[in-house]
Amino acid sequence: MEPPDSETIALRRDPLLPAEPCPVRWRRSARARRVSLRIDAAEGAVVVTLPIRVGRKHGLALLSEHAGWVMQRLSALAPERPFEPGAAVPIGGVDYKIRHDPARRGGAFLEEGALIVTGEVDFVARRVRDFLKAEALRRIGVAAKPHAEALGVAPRAIRLKDTRSRWGSCAPDRTLAFSWRLVLAPDWVLDYVVAHEMAHLREMNHSARFWTLVETRSPHRYAATEWLRHNGAALQRVG
Ligand SMILES: [Zn+2]
Repeated sequence: MEPPDSETIALRRDPLLPAEPCPVRWRRSARARRVSLRIDAAEGAVVVTLPIRVGRKHGLALLSEHAGWVMQRLSALAPERPFEPGAAVPIGGVDYKIRHDPARRGGAFLEEGALIVTGEVDFVARRVRDFLKAEALRRIGVAAKPHAEALGVAPRAIRLKDTRSRWGSCAPDRTLAFSWRLVLAPDWVLDYVVAHEMAHLREMNHSARFWTLVETRSPHRYAATEWLRHNGAALQRVG
């Protein structure tokens, strides 16, 4: 069976970093003499052209050889879903419509399936982003609490980052950092990432003992990893 033409693969741009989701479109060409890569900006994907009778493993080899270039180019693409009035923004995996209401006060807040943004229209995008960051920190804090109690751990601090390469991290000084974009994902995905980093406060490694600990705290390890693998790149292009 021929694999799909478009898929999201996990690409490692640096052996020290976790693999990142990379949208790929495969293309067959009778005229191509060798395997080649190009970025399709509209699609937000890397297009891999294969000559006839050249296997995908050669494309994958070229992709991992140029993973740094590919991921850097993909993450530099303009956002696909900008924060503007009328646009939808996913929060906890649920879409909210951005509604600009200059007559009201209070910055930005959720109301009946909408994200109401007050103030001048020029500042809508910034206010949405600020709201999402505050909401991310709030939700991560709420999610962290039961894990902290059950695991008997306390992070030194919880911070947000705008790194595109990692969803969460645990520093040797016990500071946890999370991508604010996790707030866009479903709650159970955010909760898994939080459980994962909290478990690192007990086991600073990815040993079998670590994974057992994670699984006592989240039943969604595999599903959440898969979800991020398939949807992570799209979340990076929101906002
Ligand atoms: Zn980890």
